[in-house]
Amino acid sequence: MKPPDVTVVGGGLAGITTALACADAGLRVVLQEARPRLGGRTTSFTRALADRTDIEVDTGQHVFMRCCTAYRALVQRLGGDSLVALQPRLDVPVVHPSGTTARIRRGTAPAPLHLLPALAGYRLLPLSERLRLGRAALALGLLDPADPATDEISFGEWLSRHGQSPRAVAALWDLITVATLNSPASRSSLALAATVFQIGLLTDASAGDLGWARVPLGHLHGDLALTALREAGVEVQLGVKPSLLDFRDGAWHLDGCVTDRVVLAVPPPAAERLVPFEAEWGARLSASPIVNVHLVYDRPVLTESFFATVDSPVQWVFDRTEASGLKTGGQYLAVSISSASEMIGRPARAIIDEIAPAVTALFPGGNLQHAFVTREASATFSPAPGTGKWRPGPRTRLPGLFLAGSWTATGWPDTMEGAVRSGNSAAAAVLADTPFPARTEVPV
Ligand SMILES: Cc1cc2nc3c(=O)[nH]c(=O)nc-3n(C[C@H](O)[C@H](O)[C@H](O)COP(=O)(O)OP(=O)(O)OC[C@H]3O[C@@H](n4cnc5c(N)ncnc54)[C@H](O)[C@@H]3O)c2cc1C
Repeated sequence: MKPPDVTVVGGGLAGITTALACADAGLRVVLQEARPRLGGRTTSFTRALADRTDIEVDTGQHVFMRCCTAYRALVQRLGGDSLVALQPRLDVPVVHPSGTTARIRRGTAPAPLHLLPALAGYRLLPLSERLRLGRAALALGLLDPADPATDEISFGEWLSRHGQSPRAVAALWDLITVATLNSPASRSSLALAATVFQIGLLTDASAGDLGWARVPLGHLHGDLALTALREAGVEVQLGVKPSLLDFRDGAWHLDGCVTDRVVLAVPPPAAERLVPFEAEWGARLSASPIVNVHLVYDRPVLTESFFATVDSPVQWVFDRTEASGLKTGGQYLAVSISSASEMIGRPARAIIDEIAPAVTALFPGGNLQHAFVTREASATFSPAPGTGKWRPGPRTRLPGLFLAGSWTATGWPDTMEGAVRSGNSAAAAVLADTPFPARTEVPV
């Protein structure tokens, strides 16, 4: 049998995108994924509660923005359009333990004026501080994120130079930076922060509208991708974890399987293990953890789909009742704690003992029935200043060997959008490397 034109290793969003794009262009594609399910870091599992009801749990709450065009196109390609929610208009309710609330809600004016009413009315900051927010936002919009010098500076330092007080950083800038970069402004690259703010909030008024999955991610990205890939002709091999990649006799050998081209769509440590003679791919990217605390109440306590918080360890809390399939009449909340290096190593009980009372202080009224914790130690790479230079593009110096993954040089932070963009770039590089594009072959 003829070897595949390309073997994609890794079935997260980057690998799924690469494999689909190559197959849609007519290549023979094999996709190998170590786990029994596709989806990578965007996955789910079934949790049996003490009363024997089951809920579907995402290992981490995921959110996207309307400007995540590559990710949204993938969801559409998978047939999942009706399974995601997308706000008609950016609207983030923010709550403080004192009971003060605010909303980051876009107006109807064109960008960046669409944010002015929200910033002017942001009651979690004194008026003098609110006036300074607009000036910093306008200056942020003028930066060039592609300039390597911008990547060497911390966003926190830049904010302070632009008149932002520690209070403004904590009450507003970090609300967005921690959620989108998985890192506070003080430890984030200005280039990555500018990318997120420019694309998401400062250029197009509707770009920052938020979206999320209305079903478990394991279904949206795992089950639907498996079907779409098979329908596109991709041979999907689950539970297959090649351990060594070797180039001889003019072809790549993956644990004995021969293939013309290989796309490694795995995290950097796995890529480096597979090609030990090559590289330091991403070796200097450090990891940033995310902890999710899952709380099931006997009755609804959240009045909206989600809330952001200020001065609370809760950070962001989402109503996952519908997506999880909980049918008890109660409510299931996922509390998403980003940049959680101090929390990740603590016992689950200690984490719950801190977070559950903090949730009750913000949203009183329910009796907690079940609580558990999920932790992702390497949820994303840490977007520290200077990381840009350690992110490789899709081509390697080895012929026929390509890279994909949210950690590669997408210009985006470690996000679903970055992963899908990396998959599109890797597929484009593979296709450019294919001497006679298979799509021109006449079917027999
Ligand atoms: C808790 C959490 C919350 C997050 N929140 C958000 C969010 O709100 N918004 C957002 O946009 N992003 C979020 N992210 C980030 C997002 O999940 C990732 O950026 C994206 O899923 C990365 O996709 P990927 O395909 O590049 O990598 P991965 O998903 O890591 O896929 C790599 C795949 O390779 C497989 N693999 C590894 N080694 C081998 C091998 N030797 N052989 C075969 N297969 C192998 C792995 O099993 C995995 O399936 C979050 C991540 C986490 C963990």
